[in-house]
Amino acid sequence: METIGILEGRRRQIYEKKSQTESFDITCDTKSLSGSVSQRACVFCGSRVVLYPVADALHLVHGPIGCAAYTWDIRGAVSSGPELHRLSFSTDLKEMDVIYGGEKKLYKSLIELIDQYNPKAAFIYSTCIIGLIGDDIDAVCKKVSQEKGIPVLPVHSEGFKGTKKDGYKAACLALMKIVGTGSTEGISKYSINILGEFNLAGEAWIIKDYYNQMGIEVVSTMTGDGRVDDIRRSHGASLNVVQCSGSMTKLAQMMKERYGIPFIRVSYFGIEDMSQALYDVAKHFNDKPEIMEAAKKLVSSEVMELYPKLQKFRKALSGRRAAIYVGGAFKAFSLIKALRYLEMDVVLAGSQTGNKDDYLGLKEMCDEGTVIVDDSNPVELSKFVLEKEADLIIGGVKERPIAYKLGIGFCDHNHERKIPLAGFIGMYNFAKEVYESVTSPVWQFMPRKGGLK
Ligand code: SF4
Repeated sequence: METIGILEGRRRQIYEKKSQTESFDITCDTKSLSGSVSQRACVFCGSRVVLYPVADALHLVHGPIGCAAYTWDIRGAVSSGPELHRLSFSTDLKEMDVIYGGEKKLYKSLIELIDQYNPKAAFIYSTCIIGLIGDDIDAVCKKVSQEKGIPVLPVHSEGFKGTKKDGYKAACLALMKIVGTGSTEGISKYSINILGEFNLAGEAWIIKDYYNQMGIEVVSTMTGDGRVDDIRRSHGASLNVVQCSGSMTKLAQMMKERYGIPFIRVSYFGIEDMSQALYDVAKHFNDKPEIMEAAKKLVSSEVMELYPKLQKFRKALSGRRAAIYVGGAFKAFSLIKALRYLEMDVVLAGSQTGNKDDYLGLKEMCDEGTVIVDDSNPVELSKFVLEKEADLIIGGVKERPIAYKLGIGFCDHNHERKIPLAGFIGMYNFAKEVYESVTSPVWQFMPRKGGLK
């Protein structure tokens, strides 16, 4: 079999660790190389995935129908109540709208939708075409907000104007417009907001329950199972706990500047990081030692229950090889720790939106021979999986077909999963899914491709 090459313009975004001491300079935080068919989504999609789980808000995509269809129900994002977020509305712009402008159509759509669905707020997403024709969506949103008495929030997410990360920023700016507009009466001193937890398969409920057991009040989860009224009063919390740092650090920084709320970065994935996330919050509230006591008790009882259940998976997976390709690089740190716990080797660690510090951290953590890659594409991912003889890819919807076509296991760690991977129960689910996929009998009918020399 031929060796797969790499595009010349991509070389500086790929690094193979040779030793701990060698110099490390990876290029990242740049636009995708033309022709490389990046796995990244557009700016609009970045905003959409962050705001989508706000379940009692109206989400209107201002643009041609394709943008809305492309992101329809893009995240599981389960809700314990309203499910307005699962409807995908679009102004469905056509040629005449492009010529004469889409503002009237946007106004009419908003009035009609607000009257029909009575949402708590509305997010209006700008797509590429809006950036080109120059509709003044701020003016329309302001007018509708005054007429209907709810926040109508423009999201400046024109698809072409940067990377997916710019979409995260646009989403944070939109959220920040409603933070601080509600009453903080009755909020406990021992309270947090959870930022960057999207409740894809009920994870936010698991995490909230842990914190509640410790005596901590969760004021708002942004944005999983999100409610507009909770976001409005979230400035009353004492601490912001940021899980998906790539998407939500911006909001945490803005809340720190405006309201003085400190923030910490955590991960809810894997035994080590999950425990640390509880301990870190307990440490913040060190004037009440009962919180730390409760955290220790919780961790000890959960780990005691989990540990024996993981041994079967560990035994079967020991020495197997995993390739990780995720959206934000911070997630990869927790995945590496969890895979190590299962005695698996990580041969590839990559992300769509990592920064220099993230990749430096990955380099420190990874074993020699591991490939670190920024903003990869299907051909490159296939190349590394084949060359490193990976048994598993951990990624999202766009990586799934790569794994199956190459005849190896896959674990969805992104939008489409239906089982929670956060918390202690999440570690069990993760180990079980990896085990079932890697050792599945189906691979005898779809033999693995590999053996590149
Ligand atoms: S790139 Fe532009 S046209 Fe394509 S989905 Fe994103 S916003 Fe829509």
